[in-house]
Amino acid sequence: MSQDNIYRHTIFQNSLMTALLDGIYDGEMTVGELLGKGNFGLGTFDALDGEMVIVDGICYQLRHDGTATLADLQAGSPYAVCTNFVPRIRRRAPKNITRADLSGFIDEMTPSENYMYAVRITGRFSRVTTRTVVKQQQPYRPMTEATDDDAEQVFDNVSGVIAGFRTPIYEKGISVPGCHVHFIDDDRTVGGHVLDFTLEEGKIELCPGTDLELRLPLTREFSAANLAPEDIDAQLHKTEVKR
Ligand SMILES: [Zn+2]
Repeated sequence: MSQDNIYRHTIFQNSLMTALLDGIYDGEMTVGELLGKGNFGLGTFDALDGEMVIVDGICYQLRHDGTATLADLQAGSPYAVCTNFVPRIRRRAPKNITRADLSGFIDEMTPSENYMYAVRITGRFSRVTTRTVVKQQQPYRPMTEATDDDAEQVFDNVSGVIAGFRTPIYEKGISVPGCHVHFIDDDRTVGGHVLDFTLEEGKIELCPGTDLELRLPLTREFSAANLAPEDIDAQLHKTEVKR
């Protein structure tokens, strides 16, 4: 028997979260190639030079000062997740909902926690708190140290889109388990990796994913990386959640 509301749909991923944690900050895939794999997604750039968000087929680079610019199609990415977003599940969000409450609301929207979901939240936010990685210099430090330099930004009364993925716990290490989302405003001028937000009003759209296309880098650094750290929970918490 097939599951309601779930249709076969591929999510593409370049490299592994544990490779980033291990300090593999240079990739071998360009933004141009990545856009060939989907019109929606997130990730980071070579040397951790900012957060990436892809919305409506356009890739933006979100730097540590909170500014957003169009990404160069030739720019390299050491880690990214993207898909062609099909909004199969949609709901109006309850007014003035916080990130913590919205997480539970999204849980109720999903037919099963065992699939992947691309998540798009569009609307007016009374507040969005983001942080963004700072460009690193070689020799690269592990990500738990690199993110010590992160700058937090707060955006008040802003319209925009939060884009990302809700990933099953069993993908821990491959990806970031749970919700990993990036923000960009409607004017496409500011954004970052989302730590917290309050959504005044807006809509939530989900695109369920059933297939994962994983591309592993052919670089020497990736070949030699430690991709199964014993303290992965602590590392993910420090680098992605931060509070
Ligand atoms: Zn992020």
